[in-house]
Amino acid sequence: MLTLETPVQFVKGIGPTIAKMLGEKGVGTVEDLLLHLPFRYEDRLNPRGLNELKPGEMASVIAEVRGAVLLRTRRMPIFEMTVGQGVQSMKCMWFHGTYLEGKFKPGQMVALFGKVEPSRSGRGFKMIQPQFEVLPDGHDDALDRVLEVGRITPVYESLGGSKLASRWIRRTVWNVLEELKGIPETLPVALVDRLKLPRREEALREVHFPPAGTAMAQLQGAGTPAHRRLIFEELFYLELGLEVKRRRFQEKTGIAFETSEKVRAALREILPFHPTAAQKRALGEIAGDMRRAVPMRRLLQGDVGSGKTIVALQAMLIAIENGHQAALMAPTEILATQHYLSAKRVLEKAQHKYRITLLTGSLDEDRKRAARRRIYEGEADLVIGTHALIEEKVEFKNLGLVVVDEQHRFGVLQRFRLMKKDGAEPDVLVMTATPIPRTLALSLYGDLDLSVLDELPPGRTPIVTRQVADERADEVWAFVRKQVAKKHQAYVVYPVIEGPKDDQPELDFALPDEAPEPEPTKKGAKKAKAGSANGPQNQALFPKLPLKSATDMYERLRTQELSGLRVGLLHGRLDADEKEVVMRRFQRGEIDVLIATTVIEVGVDVPNATVMVIEHAERFGLAQLHQLRGRVGRGGAKSYCILMTGGKISPNAEERLAAMVRTQDGFELAELDLELRGPGEFFGTRQAGLPDFRVANLLRDRALLELAKVESARFVQKAEAEATEEERARIRVRLQGLWQRRYGLAEAG
Ligand code: ADP
Ligand code: MG
Repeated sequence: MLTLETPVQFVKGIGPTIAKMLGEKGVGTVEDLLLHLPFRYEDRLNPRGLNELKPGEMASVIAEVRGAVLLRTRRMPIFEMTVGQGVQSMKCMWFHGTYLEGKFKPGQMVALFGKVEPSRSGRGFKMIQPQFEVLPDGHDDALDRVLEVGRITPVYESLGGSKLASRWIRRTVWNVLEELKGIPETLPVALVDRLKLPRREEALREVHFPPAGTAMAQLQGAGTPAHRRLIFEELFYLELGLEVKRRRFQEKTGIAFETSEKVRAALREILPFHPTAAQKRALGEIAGDMRRAVPMRRLLQGDVGSGKTIVALQAMLIAIENGHQAALMAPTEILATQHYLSAKRVLEKAQHKYRITLLTGSLDEDRKRAARRRIYEGEADLVIGTHALIEEKVEFKNLGLVVVDEQHRFGVLQRFRLMKKDGAEPDVLVMTATPIPRTLALSLYGDLDLSVLDELPPGRTPIVTRQVADERADEVWAFVRKQVAKKHQAYVVYPVIEGPKDDQPELDFALPDEAPEPEPTKKGAKKAKAGSANGPQNQALFPKLPLKSATDMYERLRTQELSGLRVGLLHGRLDADEKEVVMRRFQRGEIDVLIATTVIEVGVDVPNATVMVIEHAERFGLAQLHQLRGRVGRGGAKSYCILMTGGKISPNAEERLAAMVRTQDGFELAELDLELRGPGEFFGTRQAGLPDFRVANLLRDRALLELAKVESARFVQKAEAEATEEERARIRVRLQGLWQRRYGLAEAG
């Protein structure tokens, strides 16, 4: 008998080969298959007439193939097809459509989905690159007639080429639903009833095969009760896991640090400036956590330049003044080194001499060994490093506080914990340089408490941001010269390290709209839903220009446009010593113009730098541009960010650049970035631990996320009253299973 846990291989019509293909798409069980939801629906119950279409709308129509031809134009092959209903007809075009040759035969019925555009003649319409499905011709079996026409038909992202496309999935899902005898409820029944959600069984059936009369708009927006129920469920288990984790920490023994007058005097002593109100508040919250004998798990969030570093440093001093060690883990060697230098500078003023140790992967073995020894013997109070801190078998004598950045959040904390010999857990402060919209913060960091620096230090003048075409490069370099003449410094940033042959950009800049995907993937499918054309069309319209690289431009600028200035080069392929030397020289003002890649993106702090020139700015993501711009405007002098672009720019990139010119508010930019790129891209997917949702979409489902958070907390508190013992056991097992599978064992905690 079929259950949700049955491996797909045992479903009728699926053998080992197909099961393997499905496995590659993450579909291992019947449940996985059922959670592969349609990404849109076609109303084949009330088909639209060609004369009812409106230009500009996304529409699906059913029509008959009248004729098709492959046109070989000078620029590219175009596949053209005419379809009709009675006397009405419509043209469809596919660029680079060679693959469609021979696919359609006159008289066939096809379902088409795409954007309706006025035809050139002015009468009637056309569709460019519509999605299509050839409908069964009447000789097919009864099931085809049930599933393909005369109903609201689900359309799926393919699970493997054209074979496992919509029609195949439709039939398989239908068969599976026929065969399943009862789908058990997975949420507490009391909760489902209170929120008036449909039961799981009903939701799974209706989301695939909506009953006649379901509103199309609701279906397309995933807003039917069936959708909402499934989305809520997914978010509920995410939030429940975070809530359980959070509570588990609360039960652990932490270190109760003291903040006596002596400690506070030590904190005041190192302050190089008056802290902002936000900094005071955040430090107050952190100190409050640290005093409690419960391990701190706190996120310090603040826009670029909001002054997180000094807050973290003060927190570390609290630990050190209490006789513990503190560790700061930075994402790159450059940053670790910079933190090390600036901590040294700041702490030098203190009467008490703090012992600071740097540990990064590129130190030679002897220096590493010496550092490890100092850490183990307790001769290092403050340890600053990179990933090496957990990779190099470092044992701390008495670790009290760990400060990590968001990228290190997942997976790292556990390993730090293992290194503690006695029972007490070190406190953990996570810092994020990316302003995260509140709902995302809620879901990503739901197990952490949140402190926000929502205020910039005083005396900052807004950064003047301009978009400038490549043709005006001469003016830009003249401007850089003028700023250097005023004793300021400048950055010039490129997307790649070396010339055209370079296949390893510093980061992968392929943004969705510039990376055509021939096979619609999940993302592609979502984009199509949002209405943008995909693939070959964009490729034709936005051909890639050869990229200027940091290395080439360094050679050129220092000998030509910027000759006579002191020009330096910084990128990720230099070894650590070289990087450190360049950084120090720039910091000390011995380099006027630093040519760099995005290695300088995060955290580099040189207040005297007033100009940020970004070449190929259209290639960078919004979050990245914002981080880069944040490298200037750190001192009192007026600062400038120049976004240089060449050639044709995609509309999406135009929007990013316009936003940069318009605002400097990191939160506003983050929201927009999220919208333009989707949550996955926004965070660089897994790296930041953003859960990979199957049915939920954080952008669309914010309200449900908030609800899931409230309900999961309530459930943990009142589980006894709200669920039977059997139900609680079932939910616990499911939670563990889901968290192990989706977010990794370590996170089940
Ligand atoms: P971020 O939050 O981006 O890490 P930093 O901690 O690097 O920001 O601080 C940015 C700059 O502002 C640094 O040069 C720092 O010394 C300075 N700064 C931080 N807080 C204050 C303050 N309260 N008053 C004046 N300058 C400050
Ligand atoms: Mg910083």
